[in-house]
Amino acid sequence: MAKLYFHYSTMNAGKSTVLLQASHNYRENDMDTYLLTAALDDRAGQGRIASRIGIGAEADMFGPSEDLFAKVSARLDKGDVASIFVDEAQFLSPDQVWQLARVVDDLRVPVLCYGLRVDFQGKLFPGSATLLALADEMREVRTICHCGKKATMVIRQDESGQTIKEGAQVQIGGNETYLSLCRRHWRKAMGDVPTDPSS
Ligand SMILES: [Zn+2]
Repeated sequence: MAKLYFHYSTMNAGKSTVLLQASHNYRENDMDTYLLTAALDDRAGQGRIASRIGIGAEADMFGPSEDLFAKVSARLDKGDVASIFVDEAQFLSPDQVWQLARVVDDLRVPVLCYGLRVDFQGKLFPGSATLLALADEMREVRTICHCGKKATMVIRQDESGQTIKEGAQVQIGGNETYLSLCRRHWRKAMGDVPTDPSS
């Protein structure tokens, strides 16, 4: 039974590493996989999924308004794939998540999506919200806050390490860095001082 999967996490949890390892496991067994990642503008084409620990693989890119059912169908016309992997799935549009659900239901190919759950303001990405609604199975890729608790939130920092509290959900080509925190430390970084101020 093909399923739609959503593996979600915060930044720097190693999502791409998990994706690449899973794809590798198929390929090692002579099964082909189809890798997709987001193009943050309309230039779809050849891309690459890279992980912070140094591994990577070629991937096709999807643009924000591309029909992914058509894109996957075109790929399947060239040969079977055992599984489809989508990195940066938070950038899928709600329509594109539905298109991937149709790939699972009608073309019977599993689709594994990997993406961030919430943005730096603690709001769901539209793609992630739709995946949370539609996925057959969900799994959290975990990482920890500096305090040792599970990190579920992310902050955006400018070059001087100041927390950025407002701005676009998607920032392209800036010099910001992202830090994953537990909710309590995220609140503190965003200026919501905890009632118990210790730690
Ligand atoms: Zn913490």
